[in-house]
Amino acid sequence: MGTADHSNTSQDALVTRLAPSPTGALHLGNARTFLVNAALAARLGWRVLLRIEDLDTPRVKPETIASTRDTLAWLGLSWDDETPLQSEDLDPYRAAMHALAKKGLIYPCARTRRDIESAQSAPNEGDHETPFPPELRPQGFVRGEPVPFDDEQTNWRLAVRPGEVAIEDRLAGPSTHDVARTVGDFLVWTKRAQPAYQLAVVVDDARQGINRIVRGDDLLPSAARQRLLWDTLAPVFGWDEFPEQWHLSLVRGVDGRRLAKRHGDTRIDHYRSLGVPPERIVGLIAFWSGTIPERAPMSVQAFCDAFDPGTMPRNDVVFTEADDRWLIST
Ligand code: GLU
Repeated sequence: MGTADHSNTSQDALVTRLAPSPTGALHLGNARTFLVNAALAARLGWRVLLRIEDLDTPRVKPETIASTRDTLAWLGLSWDDETPLQSEDLDPYRAAMHALAKKGLIYPCARTRRDIESAQSAPNEGDHETPFPPELRPQGFVRGEPVPFDDEQTNWRLAVRPGEVAIEDRLAGPSTHDVARTVGDFLVWTKRAQPAYQLAVVVDDARQGINRIVRGDDLLPSAARQRLLWDTLAPVFGWDEFPEQWHLSLVRGVDGRRLAKRHGDTRIDHYRSLGVPPERIVGLIAFWSGTIPERAPMSVQAFCDAFDPGTMPRNDVVFTEADDRWLIST
């Protein structure tokens, strides 16, 4: 990467981002995403930006931002540059909102979760997100008729049209998503006077020249929402193509559920406080990634050198008690 052009505007610079949410809870699943992202970047010559995503969560505090950076560095990760914090300047997100408003694609929405769940057409889908029922759009809203984006203290939704959104993914393969059916009109701005995650990611990826995205496949449905926003805004702002997508299979517990608190404390900082060296965490992830046949301590550099996306298992990774025992058996 030494000769890579360090300006974001270069046509052929390949740029990715590590995008942690600074909540102090980075766990083994996050470590795996970031390490694989770093290894792909090293192998394929991508420039790496660290983008700490400090919007969209009430749990962000200055100390969690610093500790997120510290945890990543402790693991042995490095990055070419760090973007400014999202909260420092909301103008780029406001500009996107004004563009969507001018196209008549967004509306203010005071509906509560309760309104949404009790609406007639909302199906009961267990713990899946309840789609926003079209009949809850404000009376009088006509898609395509410009509206002013004049109230930042309320939620705003994108009026989604039925139809399939296609995502080509380098790891997950092709998929199509009918966003209108699965989530309906989704939030692009929140009543905390901030952009919602979907809008913030799209605006940031575009303005930071990100064209390679690596993350967990729990975000594949979000990629479809982001593509809708991207394709709408790209002609207005002159953005390039929608970034290349690399969605990784998830890390799960032995019960098959997504790695979470119920599986014990899998936070990186937890292992760190137990005296586990970072090379153990990297070695476990290298083993999960098909890079080495048995768990063995490994530096990030050695992992990046040996990593081959072709040998990465496509099915979900399972974090076992044996993994945990091996980590703490130092
Ligand atoms: N900050 C998000 C997370 O930690 C990642 C967003 C993304 O990669 O698009 O889940």
